[in-house]
Amino acid sequence: MSEFPLSAELSISPVEEMTFRGRKYFLKRDDLINPYFNGNKARKFDYFLNSDLSEYKKIASYGGNQSNAMFSLAAFAKIKGLKFDYYGKPLPLFLKKNPVGNFKYALDMGMNYIELPDYEQFFRKMSSPEKKYDELGKDTLLIRQGGAEKEAEFGVKKLAREINEWAQEKGINKLSVFIQSGTGTTAVFLQKHLNFRVYTTPNIGNADYLLKQFALLEYNSDNYPVILETKKKYIFGKPYKEFYDIWEEISSENNIEFELLYDPKTLIALAEHNKNTEGEIMYIHSGGTVGNESMLLRYKYKGII
Ligand SMILES: *Cc1c(COP(=O)(O)O)cnc(C)c1O
Repeated sequence: MSEFPLSAELSISPVEEMTFRGRKYFLKRDDLINPYFNGNKARKFDYFLNSDLSEYKKIASYGGNQSNAMFSLAAFAKIKGLKFDYYGKPLPLFLKKNPVGNFKYALDMGMNYIELPDYEQFFRKMSSPEKKYDELGKDTLLIRQGGAEKEAEFGVKKLAREINEWAQEKGINKLSVFIQSGTGTTAVFLQKHLNFRVYTTPNIGNADYLLKQFALLEYNSDNYPVILETKKKYIFGKPYKEFYDIWEEISSENNIEFELLYDPKTLIALAEHNKNTEGEIMYIHSGGTVGNESMLLRYKYKGII
């Protein structure tokens, strides 16, 4: 990553066309916003990138050891001149010895990874919607796992506006928009501000989990996207051969690198449900391709590739 200058400049992402299984789609290239803040992490952290954080000394967050949010937050802390503490489960030995992917680049940018044997307890405490900051100190800005914060609405609203304006210019009045969900933060705020239907696929949990997440951020259920499940159940982060295959297929067909953690299940859902949607379809490329490095290693390790 060191070849890219660290910058908080977020550009407007282009809309391109792609083909997938014999059908044409519009592709919103949110992966092209910025090398460090791309996809929905750029959208979710836009508010913080634009705010005065001089009352803080430190940023804290928590989650998986290969998280895309962790990588973006490490860059964010560096740009803002703040320390960055990241809490997670104890690290696997192989990663400690040979840092790769998001974990490596975050360390390079100064992340302090704090291993917590009782991580689940910490997670529950930090994720509760009412309580904040008290334990980590007043000069620490806590950003919940995956950037699941109300402040995310600011940047996601810009994404919605870009799509609304694009559709208007193109004279498109029937559009269905597909986006991946982890915490569901991006999808729910997108639906709130978009003039079209949003369809999303849960990756971390199931539809129930996602509805709970929507409710934490937005009380008006008219603003909730349509949740599309795949026929088969998948465990988040686990390498499946069909995930790799669909990723390979769409990436090589369009000569665009897709993302290996959230895209595959969402694309399977898209292929299963695209006949039931109205008008043109837009798929959102939510960036995160830096994480492919470690995902590909896992596929190799499992003997899938
Ligand atoms: C973080 C991430 C998501 C999940 O976004 P949420 O707002 O938490 O639903 C989806 N796709 C990619 C590529 C991501 O990096």
